[in-house]
Amino acid sequence: MTAEHLTVDVVITGAGMVGLTLANLLVQQEKSIAIIDHNPVAEFNDSHPVEARVTAVSPGSQAIFEYVNAWELMQSKRVSPFTDMHVWDEAGEAKIHFSAKELQRNILGHIVENRVIQTSLYETLNRNANIEWLLGEHLNEIAVRQDHAEVLLDSGKSISAKLVVGADGGRSIIRNLAGINYHEKSYQQMGLVALVETEYPHSNTAWQRFLSTGPLALLPLNHDQESQKMCSIVWSVSQDYADELMRLNEHEFANALTQASDMKLGNIILKSNCAAFPLISGQADTMIQSRIALVGDAAHTLHPLAGQGANLGFTDAAVLADVLTNTDRDMGSLKVLRKYERARVGETQIMQKAMDAFVTAFGSTNHAIVTARNAAFRTADSLQPIKKFFMTHAMGLSKDRPTYAR
Ligand SMILES: Cc1cc2nc3c(=O)[nH]c(=O)nc-3n(C[C@H](O)[C@H](O)[C@H](O)COP(=O)(O)OP(=O)(O)OC[C@H]3O[C@@H](n4cnc5c(N)ncnc54)[C@H](O)[C@@H]3O)c2cc1C
Repeated sequence: MTAEHLTVDVVITGAGMVGLTLANLLVQQEKSIAIIDHNPVAEFNDSHPVEARVTAVSPGSQAIFEYVNAWELMQSKRVSPFTDMHVWDEAGEAKIHFSAKELQRNILGHIVENRVIQTSLYETLNRNANIEWLLGEHLNEIAVRQDHAEVLLDSGKSISAKLVVGADGGRSIIRNLAGINYHEKSYQQMGLVALVETEYPHSNTAWQRFLSTGPLALLPLNHDQESQKMCSIVWSVSQDYADELMRLNEHEFANALTQASDMKLGNIILKSNCAAFPLISGQADTMIQSRIALVGDAAHTLHPLAGQGANLGFTDAAVLADVLTNTDRDMGSLKVLRKYERARVGETQIMQKAMDAFVTAFGSTNHAIVTARNAAFRTADSLQPIKKFFMTHAMGLSKDRPTYAR
């Protein structure tokens, strides 16, 4: 056991995509940082096979990555721009088309492998000497004092900091140690994730079909520039149906997927193993306490149907960094942290309620609900102001977006 004591401005627990985004923003402000994660950070080189876990990075999140010089690294690895999104319903005629052109932009966003995001953010941080890396370490206790917090690790190391940030995902230990309540509801669905090859080109378009069993998304990947036939899928299905699908052989699974996709991109072939993630809606009672702040999934977990979970987390990081740079007060004090919570709690709760409503409305085969959602889709598709409002928000381009996302 090595006893060692460090003193830094901020301790971040969780070296995932959101924790590393926050760390990048804070080192730009010349704050000293310790990053704790019980896992090592994933590695990336060109020979690594394409990873099925991807994020639809909004232009707002891209601006944050550009600010910390991580976007050019992501581009040099693998990113796939998409210009359009088609959404349609299994029951009825409901459909909606979002196009970057409607907002006079070139793209709606980029599909980026999670590993590419995480390793690029890690590489930019490694150019900086102001970081203490505590990877492979387990957190044991946090003691909150009047003017600092003290974090104790299983290895015997301890760290004093003005602020401790929980960026440690849906099962956050920081949230638990701080005694912050977390309201969790299972959607009773699994998200099946895999790489597939389609018969027809995806045309740089994200395709999403709402089925009564859950939504299926085909997210376009451009790594084979010529054919444009590679996609990552996120297929949300009930737990029982997920078990059934996971028991099928490769060929049977691909057939079921082809049927579920309405043959929009023709026959589908499976190109990777299929991984299954439980889908959970979760919200912490509060995003802050004295000397403690939660960001990303540690504060809120969403259904992946609108591809917003990680984007909300990147915005949390940008807003928290903004609050911390614009203060001459003690950065772990409640006075300062309340500004962060006030700025974030509304958007995260609205997004969560919207996702819950989508899952309920699209999971129903009730005739009245099907008719109502067909009408809602038609209205949203034909009314440009409504459509532009949705798109601007989903793309992280609303007028009140944080400074670092501009
Ligand atoms: C199937 C699926 C598809 C999705 N698609 C999208 C999408 O297209 N767009 C989008 O915006 N979002 C999407 N999401 C949501 C997105 O993946 C999450 O919101 C995002 O990964 C959260 O990032 P995070 O850094 O907050 O947490 P995590 O990615 O969970 O990272 C947490 C980090 O903390 C570490 N950690 C955990 N516990 C401890 C501990 N006790 N001590 C130390 N370290 C710890 C972990 O090792 C990890 O490195 C999707 C989610 C799912 C399930």
